[in-house]
Amino acid sequence: MTAKTKHSDTMGAAGAGSSSRQGPEGLWDSVKKAVFVIGSGILFLAAFGNSLTWHFQKCWGASGDFWQNLWTKLYLKFEGHESALFYCGTMILPTIAFWGTNALLLLVDTSGKPSFITRYRIQVEKNNPVDPVKLRQALKCVLFNWLCISGPMVVIAYHLMSWKGKPCGPELPTFHWALTELAVFAVVEELMFYYSHRLFHHPSLYKYFHKQHHEWTAPIGIVAIYAHPLEHVLSNTLPVVIGPVLLGSHVSTASMWYCLALISTTVSHCGYHLPFLPSPEFHDYHHLKFNQCYGVLGVLDRLHSTDTKFRQTKQYERHSLLTNFTPLNESIPDTPKKGQ
Ligand SMILES: [Zn+2]
Ligand SMILES: [Zn+2]
Repeated sequence: MTAKTKHSDTMGAAGAGSSSRQGPEGLWDSVKKAVFVIGSGILFLAAFGNSLTWHFQKCWGASGDFWQNLWTKLYLKFEGHESALFYCGTMILPTIAFWGTNALLLLVDTSGKPSFITRYRIQVEKNNPVDPVKLRQALKCVLFNWLCISGPMVVIAYHLMSWKGKPCGPELPTFHWALTELAVFAVVEELMFYYSHRLFHHPSLYKYFHKQHHEWTAPIGIVAIYAHPLEHVLSNTLPVVIGPVLLGSHVSTASMWYCLALISTTVSHCGYHLPFLPSPEFHDYHHLKFNQCYGVLGVLDRLHSTDTKFRQTKQYERHSLLTNFTPLNESIPDTPKKGQ
């Protein structure tokens, strides 16, 4: 179980180096670019948002009643046992989402089959098949984090949310409000994950807390929560759980967000760049190189220039939604073809 510790695995120091090399103009340039991108996005949404949301709302109008009726039935069935309803939504559903997705991925990782999945492997020579001893050790840690840390943190979240409001109220949130909340949760997660993650890369903390997560230079799905308990609290769970607590969300939105966050982190660790799923290249590169790509969305990495090396790589060229069935390391191969 040797951790492949490279020259630069303790940090940030090198990542920060690349940003200081760019100097303040580099950072200013990044801020200008980010403002331009975000500004254009806002203008676009302002221009097309109304018609876009009208269409969504129209679809929701038909299905919205369906969900509200379903919720009302559940609500009446569980009346007086709101905590049970809350835990079904925030524990059982996320458990199915996380372990269901990972069970499928583990079948592929351990058997090396089917080839129509394994052909999308990002680090081609790695985990083919995965080392069973290393996997068993990771699973023990992941189960511990799941049962002994995530579980109790959801209980704490329930008490905080009940104290602030009524997470299991009889009315589902509106479609617009649920979307707004999900956007806020994603921003909160990006901020908290990026900065706590960079902190864990500080040389004085790295070897005690974060090195464990980086034992996997080529990650697999469950490595998403293979981490030291302190890291699992501060970087994995808190950034996800805090959003719904701050907004006093309904259990339905909280549940959807937990499931989305868990599937998203599983995909970004899974090691396969599969068609029609978000690109995992960004975080896979973080595991490969240690000192680049600390965030989830990549916005803060752009602002702090902690993605400068990444943006010069093949992995960056491949970092997009794959919309056909040709693996990206075939359409964008590692080494240039002869004569190029
Ligand atoms: Zn990771
Ligand atoms: Zn890291």
